[in-house]
Amino acid sequence: MKRQTMLYCNEGNKKSFQKVFMFLIIVNLFSTIFSTHIYGQESRLPEAPIFIDNLPVKTKYIMRDGQLMVPSLFLKHTGVRVDWNEDYRSVVFSYGDTRFALPVGQNYSDDFVRATGQWQRQPLTTRTIEFAGDIFVPLLDVTRKFGMRATYNPQLGRTFITTNIRSAPNFVYRGNPQKKLVALTFDDGPDAFYTPKILDILKSKQVPATFFVMGKQVEAYPNVMRRIVNEGHGIANHTWSHPALPRQLTERVIEEVRRTQNIMEQTVGRKPDLFRPPFGAITKSDALVLHEMGFRTIMWSVDTLDWSGLSGEEILNIVQRDITPGGIVLQHNFQTNARLLDGTVEALPLIIDDLRAKGYRFVTVQTLLAND
Ligand SMILES: [Zn+2]
Repeated sequence: MKRQTMLYCNEGNKKSFQKVFMFLIIVNLFSTIFSTHIYGQESRLPEAPIFIDNLPVKTKYIMRDGQLMVPSLFLKHTGVRVDWNEDYRSVVFSYGDTRFALPVGQNYSDDFVRATGQWQRQPLTTRTIEFAGDIFVPLLDVTRKFGMRATYNPQLGRTFITTNIRSAPNFVYRGNPQKKLVALTFDDGPDAFYTPKILDILKSKQVPATFFVMGKQVEAYPNVMRRIVNEGHGIANHTWSHPALPRQLTERVIEEVRRTQNIMEQTVGRKPDLFRPPFGAITKSDALVLHEMGFRTIMWSVDTLDWSGLSGEEILNIVQRDITPGGIVLQHNFQTNARLLDGTVEALPLIIDDLRAKGYRFVTVQTLLAND
C-alpha cells in the first residue's frame, strides 16, 4: 500500500527514513483516534462478533459518542425487518406491533404509535450516520425499542443480545435418516447448456431430482423450465437474481422471491413452496419472512463444491465420503464462467450408479420431506 511504498523509497537514507517513520506513527495514531470521523475505506472498520441469543454474528462497527454503532442490516440477524424510506431518508425497523424509523443524520427516531396511528419523535443516544455505503445505527437504542435485552460484558469485551424472537422452524438440512433415500438438487438454472445435459442423464437413469431455479433464468429459458417439470422433477425457488440475502432490505428479499414465484406460475402453472437462499446465506429475519410466505428453507447435507470446477471423479469422492440416508446433495446447473460445471455432468451418472449399488433410492426433496 501507499505507506509501504513510502518506506521503501526512503530506504537509502537512514535519517529521513527515521523521520518518515516517526511521521507515520503519528499519522497512524491520529487516524486511529479519528477514524470514526473520517470517511474512508470500508476495510478500515474494525469487526467483532456480537452474540445474538448466544450465537456469535460478526459485524463491522463504529464507536461514536460512546455508543456501539452497527450497519442497520445487521439487525436482521435478531429477527426484525429492516427497510428504507427514501422520502424521509430513514431506516425503518419493524417486528410485530413495533415499528420505528431512524432518519440519517438525526439523533432521534420516529416511532409509530399503533393506538393513535401517529408517529412520535423520541431521542436517540447518538446520530444515525451513513458511512462507507452503510447506515450505522446505535445498537442499544434499536434493540431496546424492541424490548430486547442487551448487555455488555467488559471482562470479555463482548455484547450480548437476547431477542425473545423465535427462529423460523423451517430449516431442512436432510431427510429421515432411517430411510435410505437421497435427493439430488441442482441450483441456479435453468440454462441452455448444462441443464439439458443433466436432464438427459436423469431421464436415461430414471432419476428424479430437484431444481432450485433463479427467476431470471426461468424468464430466459422457459422451455428448459417446462422440460424440468414435464420430466417429473421437483422445483424450488432460488430468488430472482441470486443476491446475498443478508445484504438486502426485507422488501427486496420479498420482491426477489415473489417475482420468481410469478414467473414460475406463468411458465409452468405452479408455484413451489421450497426455497434455498443464494450461497446458503440467510438471516433470522429473512427466514421468518419466508416462513410467513409459506416456504420451507432447504439447505443440504452434502456440498459437492462442483461450482469450483472440480472433476467428475473429485465430485464423486465427496458424495461417497459425505452421503448418509436422507441426504440432500448440492450441485449446480448454471455458471456464468464457461465450462466450470463439466465435472457436474461427468459425475452425475457415476453418483447415480454408485449410490444405487449401495441401496439408495432417488427422490425429489418434496418426496424426501413427505417421508419424514
Ligand atoms: Zn445458487
